[in-house]
Amino acid sequence: MQLVLASGNAGKLDELRTVLGDCGLQLRAQSEFAVGDVEETAPTFIENALIKARHAARATGMPALADDSGLCVDALGGAPGLYSARYGGGHADAQRNIERLLLEMRDLPDQRRGARFYCVLVLLRSADDPQPLIAEGEWFGRILRTPRGDGGFGYDPVFLDPVHGCSAAELDPAVKNSISHRGRALAVLKQRLEDFR
Ligand code: IMP
Repeated sequence: MQLVLASGNAGKLDELRTVLGDCGLQLRAQSEFAVGDVEETAPTFIENALIKARHAARATGMPALADDSGLCVDALGGAPGLYSARYGGGHADAQRNIERLLLEMRDLPDQRRGARFYCVLVLLRSADDPQPLIAEGEWFGRILRTPRGDGGFGYDPVFLDPVHGCSAAELDPAVKNSISHRGRALAVLKQRLEDFR
């Protein structure tokens, strides 16, 4: 079966291809079909992933997969949440995003610095599929006071994984993929794909 990925991100395409190839699914980029981005107007990650998958399924007539993810800080009422990519201003400027986050949290003591990364993957058989396959993953940690490590991307340098005692940017990429929100959502997706018809 062929699936279209509702994203223009080449890194995501590679990562998902590796996992889904094992399941006999061939992933195609929406750009191959000249499908552009759609506005993410909903107030939740799940709804935005559904909007993206539905847009790609409708435009191509193929089953479609979409994802959405972000960082949610408990003491900030879930922010940056949906706005994770542009929290500091420009789109996906990691340094500005981190600067704003650390500023907002500057007076919070360690016990109030809890946070989680969240990822949702949505698979639609068709644009009008009433029963999407939804796979979620979470990664619980704490926001550091200063960045640590050079690996990863986004908020990784300020996200402390309590199990390994280091930031997400200090983790070996394979370890990060095995415990991260995205890794967990992918594992759930893979398992649930066995029943997907
Ligand atoms: P998107 O789902 O690709 O739009 O990602 C949303 C934003 O969430 C990214 O731009 C990052 O700021 C943040 N984010 C999502 N996953 C991660 C991660 O694994 N590490 C660090 N930041 C992440």
